[in-house]
Amino acid sequence: MSNSRVLSYNFDYFQPETLEDALDLIKKKGSRIIAGGSDLLVQMKTGNVEPQALVNILGLKELDFISLNDKGNGKGLEIGAAAQLYKIEENDQIQRNYTALFEAVKCIGSTQIRNMATMAGNICNASPGADTVPPLIVFGAEVVIRSLTGQGGIAERRVAVEDFCTGPGTTVLAEGEMVTAIVIPPMSQGSGSAFKKLSRVTLDLAKISCALCLERQGEICTSVRVAIGAAAPTVIRARLVEEALTGEKITKKFLSESAGLVTGNILPITDIRSTSQYRNQVAPVLIADTFEQAWQKSGGNAISCYYL
Ligand SMILES: Cc1cc2nc3c(=O)[nH]c(=O)nc-3n(C[C@H](O)[C@H](O)[C@H](O)COP(=O)(O)OP(=O)(O)OC[C@H]3O[C@@H](n4cnc5c(N)ncnc54)[C@H](O)[C@@H]3O)c2cc1C
Repeated sequence: MSNSRVLSYNFDYFQPETLEDALDLIKKKGSRIIAGGSDLLVQMKTGNVEPQALVNILGLKELDFISLNDKGNGKGLEIGAAAQLYKIEENDQIQRNYTALFEAVKCIGSTQIRNMATMAGNICNASPGADTVPPLIVFGAEVVIRSLTGQGGIAERRVAVEDFCTGPGTTVLAEGEMVTAIVIPPMSQGSGSAFKKLSRVTLDLAKISCALCLERQGEICTSVRVAIGAAAPTVIRARLVEEALTGEKITKKFLSESAGLVTGNILPITDIRSTSQYRNQVAPVLIADTFEQAWQKSGGNAISCYYL
């Protein structure tokens, strides 16, 4: 259905100035959080959702931050739910240390979209093709969720990004809960990461995507995490590939054989963007390419062509 319609019904609109006020407003039945609106307004125009009230969190200064998060074992990152994607793209620390996230954010939509949209919105929309989810999963990131308690205080719980989406468009969020930040652990020495996405045109969601984060000692891959987007109902870890590569000396042949195991983890469908056959065939190649890029980022030499 076309999304060019104007919004054809009435709804309330709130622009709270504090987190407490925002949490109070989202408790009301039929209300919905809006951040950049780049997913929600499309869904409202196509009539897929009809909120009775919109609560805009983009102006909440306390949620508009990117900060170092010192947990005693090095500095990780905390990114507030109202920080737009362009701020993540421009952040030096993210460009240097969290390459897969930087690469994923950089390829989302257009400059106009990244000026408005948020990473929290990307995660909460729960598309299996959401670009920031694979890198956040391979970094072991957590979502910070807050809600009002019965006594008027604020309760907090944390959920791994990997467990946050439960299916296309669904998450673990309960009524009255809001994502307030995403916390990313520190990267260790000798690690490297990369993100790759195949799409019809640059403005489009992924046909399939891959984020990968690895640690290396010489030619041995000591640990690796691989997440695949748009190839299952949620972004999914390629655990068979991870197990095959961990602790092994990496050659091109071994990498290619190990990457082929991904078909045992993914369950792609045919939809408007691609076919299940294409997704199954291209997934191993995408993983091998992303691995090589992450390997180089970790300081590794070009991967040997010789057979084991
Ligand atoms: C032209 C175009 C191109 C696009 N290209 C891409 C692309 O290449 N890759 C990609 O991944 N996406 C793409 N998108 C989708 C979209 O831009 C992203 O998913 C974006 O990050 C959504 O963020 P937002 O702040 O605009 O979310 P909104 O639209 O404001 O919200 C999305 C959903 O999340 C909920 N929500 C938002 N914030 C919170 C919160 N803090 N707590 C709880 N719930 C919350 C909202 O209620 C809504 O259900 C594109 C969209 C358009 C229109």
